[in-house]
Amino acid sequence: MSSPPSGAPSVRAAVVARVKRVRKVFVRPVQRAAREAARSTAAGLGQVFLPPWRCPGCGGWKKVRHLAPCAGVVDVSALRRSTSATGCPRCGLLYVTPFPPASDLRKLYSRGGGWATGHPQDTSDIAGTHLIEALDRIVGFRAPAPGSCVLDFGCGHGRWLNTFAEFGWTTFGIDPALKTAFTRHSELTAVGDSPRFQFVVASHVLEHVPNPGSILEQLGRATLPGGWIYVAVPHLDALPAHRDWKYVLSAGTHLAAYSLHCLTYLLAQSGFDAPVEIVVPKDRKGQFRLRIVARRGSPRPVAPEPLTSALVALRKAGVGTATAR
Ligand SMILES: [Zn+2]
Repeated sequence: MSSPPSGAPSVRAAVVARVKRVRKVFVRPVQRAAREAARSTAAGLGQVFLPPWRCPGCGGWKKVRHLAPCAGVVDVSALRRSTSATGCPRCGLLYVTPFPPASDLRKLYSRGGGWATGHPQDTSDIAGTHLIEALDRIVGFRAPAPGSCVLDFGCGHGRWLNTFAEFGWTTFGIDPALKTAFTRHSELTAVGDSPRFQFVVASHVLEHVPNPGSILEQLGRATLPGGWIYVAVPHLDALPAHRDWKYVLSAGTHLAAYSLHCLTYLLAQSGFDAPVEIVVPKDRKGQFRLRIVARRGSPRPVAPEPLTSALVALRKAGVGTATAR
């Protein structure tokens, strides 16, 4: 018998190795890219053709589209969509259409994501003693009853919670992106359904989220009867004065814009009554911000407003083509 040629197995092995290498270098990346493209296209198409059907504030179905162009584009798959303001004729909310993909928002506000990177630790005081004094005149939060609890939804580095802690409050915070506050304050991962807080804070949060109505309802359920909520957002009514439309609404991070009437409507829907606007004359950035407190109670429903406040603000500021009616 003759033995097989000694070179045959090594030739076969070399061919197999070459094929594996070709597949690893050329074929698999293409397969991976195709799978990823299919996934993102599916998500993207959903985003393109499924913008918020219902108002993110009140859940209403009616909408008025293209009230004004917004800064920034929404990047979905290979499609870069320009954005514009849509208005809700029931609660008066303006919101960006289309919304950024939910996956982009999750990534932006995740731990170590873009928001955290852009907001390194800030140890300065909150807006200042003038704001504290103005708030205390209405709420009297400097002398809490023993065991009083406060929740700051979107607490950032904990500046509000630090202030509350100094006055003797038991402090809780929620923040998906920043964690420095939780060396001093208790972290929660959800608001919870039972009322336990005498005070809740949503300071410059509601403009960032795609579901502000749902968040306000959660905060309403978590607030004890007679407790308070403090809300701060960019000031839509004051747009003709400050003229910073991009700050009020843009495709980047400020997805929803609020007039005082809109916030009053949404707060009433969540069980908060008779909101009071806090004006801080000595705050140089005060005109940009709508700051209000409201009490947990049994509010009467607020009458719908057919976007009057928003349209007046846009027209007086010369933004878009909106006309007041
Ligand atoms: Zn609405």
